[in-house]
Amino acid sequence: MDVQHSSRFTVTPSGKAVAADARAALLEDPGFGRIFTDHMVTIRWTEGKGWHSHSVGPREPFTLDPACAVLHYAQEIFEGMKAYRLADGSVAMFRPQENARRFAESAERMAMPVLPQALFLEAVEELVKIDADWIPGGEGSLYLRPFMFASETFLGVRPAAEYIFCVIASPVGAYFKGGKTAVTLWVSEHYSRAARGGTGAAKCGGNYAASLIAQAEASRHGCDQVVFLDAAENKWVEELGGMNVFFVMSDGSLVTPPLGGTILPGITRDSIITLARGEGMVVREEPYSFAQWRDDAASGALREAFACGTAAVVTAIGEVKSVEGDFTIGNGDGGLVTQKLRGALTGIQRGESEAPAGWLRRL
Ligand SMILES: *Cc1c(COP(=O)(O)O)cnc(C)c1O
Repeated sequence: MDVQHSSRFTVTPSGKAVAADARAALLEDPGFGRIFTDHMVTIRWTEGKGWHSHSVGPREPFTLDPACAVLHYAQEIFEGMKAYRLADGSVAMFRPQENARRFAESAERMAMPVLPQALFLEAVEELVKIDADWIPGGEGSLYLRPFMFASETFLGVRPAAEYIFCVIASPVGAYFKGGKTAVTLWVSEHYSRAARGGTGAAKCGGNYAASLIAQAEASRHGCDQVVFLDAAENKWVEELGGMNVFFVMSDGSLVTPPLGGTILPGITRDSIITLARGEGMVVREEPYSFAQWRDDAASGALREAFACGTAAVVTAIGEVKSVEGDFTIGNGDGGLVTQKLRGALTGIQRGESEAPAGWLRRL
């Protein structure tokens, strides 16, 4: 195998890379998160030594001791971002600096070492470069999953002294099967996602573990996703398990729950706020109650609602179900504002329309 050095990374191309024709067949209908590229990037951190062993190599399993800290105390964080194949054949990422910054913030919250943001970007770009043939054309994209976990073999309870940072990549198509135009939400009555002082603003696996029972409840009620209310009053709409939420009012303004530590600060959320304000729309980051949501949907004061995140981009919310009853938003099939914002965002991500400075990072 050829071993090369690219910047501070040792690059070892995979000897078992998927052949071009097999790869093309996989890329025809990749789904979400079930197909992976040939390589992975890893960097290790050890107390007293810092970041070391920067490597780009074949994608392969980790060998972990049964006493590996992450398996017991869940010290783990991750990111989700995408690389796109632009019309001119070049490759770009959308606001990756924001992912690097958020990863650093998540690390701090979880008492983990902070990976320098430049190194985070370098690692992600190394993987995109070596696996560029895996970026689907058309509607698809290469979903990148940087993550870090406590790898020390130790059962004592304290921040671990060893970590592994890793980046893997997965070619993806549409997040919701069948390219649904609108999703149905289930309002969780019993379960909270995050409380004040907790980890709601950190992108950590533990938040997802805690949300799965509510997501399963949503599925049992025939819904696509769960929407969480605040833990303190069980009254205010916060976000979905993995997406932020927006409301489109009849006066054309947008409302979205404010960031206050219990909501994940989505980069898609931030981008939509910026784009909408740039279009002259009024955007209010303010609390919105579930009762108000139901009343506004009934009165027509609410025209549309949508969920947003890297994976699903912008997805209309058509119907909301809860133990107190169900209601439909607009005609239940999304609306023009949702479509327009989705179009504006995807146009920028794919290099088809002009992006605010620094949003599109070409490789
Ligand atoms: C990742 C995530 C989001 C969306 O963030 P983006 O940066 O837009 O992808 C929203 N909510 C939760 C809980 C998340 O983990």
